[in-house]
Amino acid sequence: MSEMIKKHSLNLTSFPVGNYACNCSILYSSATKEAIIIDPGNDHELILKKINELGIKVKSLLHTHAHFDHIGRSTEVSKATGATIHLHKGDQFLYDMLPQQGLFFGQQVGTPKKLDSYLEEGEIFKFDDPEINSFLTTLHTPGHTPGSCCFYTEYFETPQLFAGDTLFMQSIGRTDLPGGDSRMIIKSIKERLLTLPEETKVIAGHGPATNIFIEKKSNPFLC
Ligand SMILES: [Zn+2]
Repeated sequence: MSEMIKKHSLNLTSFPVGNYACNCSILYSSATKEAIIIDPGNDHELILKKINELGIKVKSLLHTHAHFDHIGRSTEVSKATGATIHLHKGDQFLYDMLPQQGLFFGQQVGTPKKLDSYLEEGEIFKFDDPEINSFLTTLHTPGHTPGSCCFYTEYFETPQLFAGDTLFMQSIGRTDLPGGDSRMIIKSIKERLLTLPEETKVIAGHGPATNIFIEKKSNPFLC
């Protein structure tokens, strides 16, 4: 788990969830306790325990894409907390296939809850906390899946990018699964991610964090 230095009442905690260790991130206001969760993963019991420990009120569940290890138990988290579920429309077909995807992850799930809205390129998220306005921006970065998105915030001393399975430390997302596109993922990374401030911390969908400077200089898939 990592805790970030903060400029405002916005807090961030990131930790691995589920049998594929998807990195989940929780952004919350220490003033109003409003929270957004990025990629709750496929272990709702762990997420609900974390929500309880932090004493937060989750408004929305945002997803970088609709692979089961990132979104598999969002229906359960939504039903328990009242949080809304958001995903880019390009991944609706994967969301509809969650029961089948679950079998590959050794988990039985029912039909997922209907999405509350589609994520849009450039969509901005905010809290009611007046210190935290428009703190999170959606970047549509297709390639790993058609609806893959990253989320970006400058509300910390170091800007933070939640990269899902698009960019990893010294690697990039696989493109051999349904809807994957190897040319598109390179284009998305080069045009949308490597153009962010170089000091931006990259919280990848799995594994260790990195930053834009390091990946721009030495990621073997991008050189
Ligand atoms: Zn994935």
